[in-house]
Amino acid sequence: MRIKLVLLSLLFFGTAKAQLQPFDAWIQECNLDSLKQQVKNLTGVDTVLINGIKQTIGSRYMDQPGNAKAASYLKAELERFGYTTNTQSFSALGQNIIAKKTGSLYPDKAFFLTAHYDAIAVPFSLAIGADDNASGCAAVLEMARILQDKTLPYTVYFAFFDEEEQGLIGSEAYAGSFDFQGTEVQAVLNLDMIANDRNNDRVMELHARPYGNSLELAEKIQKLNDSFDIGLTIEIRNPGTTASDHSSFWDQGVTAILFIEDAQDFNPYYHTRFDSIQYFNDSFFLQNTQLALASLGWFGGQADSRLSTETALDLKVKFFPNPTQGLVYMELPQNGSISVYDAQGKHVQTETVTEGNSPLNLHAYQAGLYFVVYTTESGQSSSKRLILQP
Ligand SMILES: [Zn+2]
Repeated sequence: MRIKLVLLSLLFFGTAKAQLQPFDAWIQECNLDSLKQQVKNLTGVDTVLINGIKQTIGSRYMDQPGNAKAASYLKAELERFGYTTNTQSFSALGQNIIAKKTGSLYPDKAFFLTAHYDAIAVPFSLAIGADDNASGCAAVLEMARILQDKTLPYTVYFAFFDEEEQGLIGSEAYAGSFDFQGTEVQAVLNLDMIANDRNNDRVMELHARPYGNSLELAEKIQKLNDSFDIGLTIEIRNPGTTASDHSSFWDQGVTAILFIEDAQDFNPYYHTRFDSIQYFNDSFFLQNTQLALASLGWFGGQADSRLSTETALDLKVKFFPNPTQGLVYMELPQNGSISVYDAQGKHVQTETVTEGNSPLNLHAYQAGLYFVVYTTESGQSSSKRLILQP
């Protein structure tokens, strides 16, 4: 078992008071069983309840019964999590399912979490599309589940697009009619094929192009993967592919990123009837979901967008081992100070530290969770979570 070292990176703007951001804990709430259950539900492995009736979602090809069932199911799931949904019908068969979680501070600034729910394979009646793209749908549902009881400063839209496989028809209809004047879209995180990693090298790709802040955002997400120790290897693709729904937002000049598995390790069952959950790399699937949630949490979860990631993420601080039984070695980029807080936020110790490697002795304290806040002489801070074992 691998135990995660979680970074809680913060900026303090010169104040000494620790403000611990909760969103690192969100990542721990991502649950592989719920993710996989959603894929099983969306691919017809298990039956689901839709409008009180037990049904099986089979092929999600645009004109197959499973496509409309999937739409109803996604809508019902969002409603089960407490959201009000909106269905955008853009043709006789095409419908996008959207839920909006209004921000507490910036209701007119929004993030999108998106995935297409339609699928394609020959024959059309067998298009179960587990990786493409029940995986992305499951991740968006999982984030909707986790965020249901959280207060977020920014508005978040959860969007499931139809007819992506027919040429991004659903997302183009949506982005083409969205009021970008009324709502300033900060970023679109589009998840499409996030569960295949046959060679188990944990490589995933972030696709960006110079629309909005897409390139900058991709680089920041790459850093988040390190800071939160998610364990993926991220390759940024610029110019990224236009072959998924994020491209419909690029067309509007909006910041948008595609999260997708490694093209060099391509899913051999892509667009075939064999694209099923049995070929998933479970932990890769979970890690991609965690990365998307960390991205939303970082960029959309903070009270002030001026809390740039730059400084905190560029402070390379290492503590090891973690968990520890008392003695921790710190690797610090500059002189500064270290303050230790317990899980309740109570200050337990502060000491000055010098650049390089130095030990931190926690033997005197009870086992449990601690937050170690490192502040440089110039006032930049970052914080890490430390687990002290008995
Ligand atoms: Zn797809």
